[in-house]
Amino acid sequence: MTISRLIYILILFSAILFADIKVLNQSTSKDFIIKTLKGEKKIYISTRDLVSALSSRLYENLDRKKLVLYISGKRIKITAGTSFLVIDDVPYQMIDIVQEYNGDFYLPAENFFEILRKTAVPGLSFDNRKEILNIDIVSYSIKSLKIEQKSNGTIVRINTQKSFSDRDISSFINKHGWFYITIVGGIVDTSVLNKTITSGIIHRIESDQINETAQIALKLRSNVISHEWYQNHAPNEIVITLRTALDNNLNRIKKAKERWKLDTIVLDAGHGGKDPGTTGKYGTKEKDIVLDITKRVGRLLEKNTGIKVVYTRTEDIWIPLWKRNKIANEAGGKVFVSIHINSNPNRKVKGFDTYFFSSAYSAEAIEVAARENSVIEFEEEKINYEKLSMERKITATMASSMFLKESEGLAAIIQEELDKILSTPNRGVKQAGFYVLSGASMPCVLIEGGFVSNPSEEKNLKSPAYRKKLAKGIYKAILKFKSSREKLLVEE
Ligand SMILES: [Zn+2]
Repeated sequence: MTISRLIYILILFSAILFADIKVLNQSTSKDFIIKTLKGEKKIYISTRDLVSALSSRLYENLDRKKLVLYISGKRIKITAGTSFLVIDDVPYQMIDIVQEYNGDFYLPAENFFEILRKTAVPGLSFDNRKEILNIDIVSYSIKSLKIEQKSNGTIVRINTQKSFSDRDISSFINKHGWFYITIVGGIVDTSVLNKTITSGIIHRIESDQINETAQIALKLRSNVISHEWYQNHAPNEIVITLRTALDNNLNRIKKAKERWKLDTIVLDAGHGGKDPGTTGKYGTKEKDIVLDITKRVGRLLEKNTGIKVVYTRTEDIWIPLWKRNKIANEAGGKVFVSIHINSNPNRKVKGFDTYFFSSAYSAEAIEVAARENSVIEFEEEKINYEKLSMERKITATMASSMFLKESEGLAAIIQEELDKILSTPNRGVKQAGFYVLSGASMPCVLIEGGFVSNPSEEKNLKSPAYRKKLAKGIYKAILKFKSSREKLLVEE
């Protein structure tokens, strides 16, 4: 939760030795009065009144002429008669000294606010001429950092208060072994981050606020094979993985890392062109519905993530199944998601299910696979197929066995996310021998988003709002799957 308060302090200028400042707190509509001292055209503001205007805490030791106040989580020590401020143990010098008057400390306003802006309250601005203090007490969006040591690398979790656009985050390693991550629009609590206890490959942490950009620099003890980052959304965090060599199987790890990074996704809208797929009683064609859902998923990914989206088709055209696999492999896709809608002679049957490729399947799965595979009949170039001959099945199964576990995992996440959004029955995760899933060298799933043979589902699927919901569920599942891949780091 972001607590942001905007306080305007209007200083009513006066020629006398000390005057009152009116503080107008616009968010609480409370008025405060702050006393000032004025000497040699410089404005000194009352510490006590400032503290109450900001609802900060104050500790005092007047005998030793010391005050400690807390603003935005920073401990600020002030000593009367000196020009020094100590903020979280770091000394800062002002041009003028702190004045003591009537049991209160008066701070040189311009100096003090400038230091405060740099160290504790980035949203602060003080107009000396107009005598207006504008304080936006921003709560930090980057609060802390945690380091986890794994056998083949280090995971750094940056706790954030919100999600950032992936486009605003970038990272690199310089030749001196510093890993940098910059977050445009982030406000980093440098006092907390810089005190994080380091471990593993992380030797030192230095964070900085550079105008609108938060920068976190990690000094690494040794070389890393790869560095990646991604965002989690519940809770919000940026996860950085720094991989080190576990042994001399460098290539194996490099390959695993390439596979692990979900940077390209292939979205496959089923059927198209001369192949309409299944058709509803009211004329709804599977090819049109699934193209619309697919494009919606793609747009969400393109808009909100850095994942590259590759479509097998974006128009009402017919693409042979072998070509869909080819597109996926050539694009270097890391996940293949085929979107379909279902049909059943029993019009009462409804719900959604997700399939992953396997050579072992149930009678029902065979039936669905037979229907989805029947599209092969449309293809002139039958030479490209051995249909689902036993030999073909075995080859295909071997090719994708390494992705089988991940495919099943993705299918489960899709069902889980769709179940949250849709009120129609969750028919679960199933295995099937879909041709479209058999040739792609990546985790593959096929979603049957509903039954066009069921009148109420056909009505739903015809509604753009319903298709939007379906797309959102699939999109969320993909994001969740992307995050879950982090676990591969541990299992390698
Ligand atoms: Zn289909």
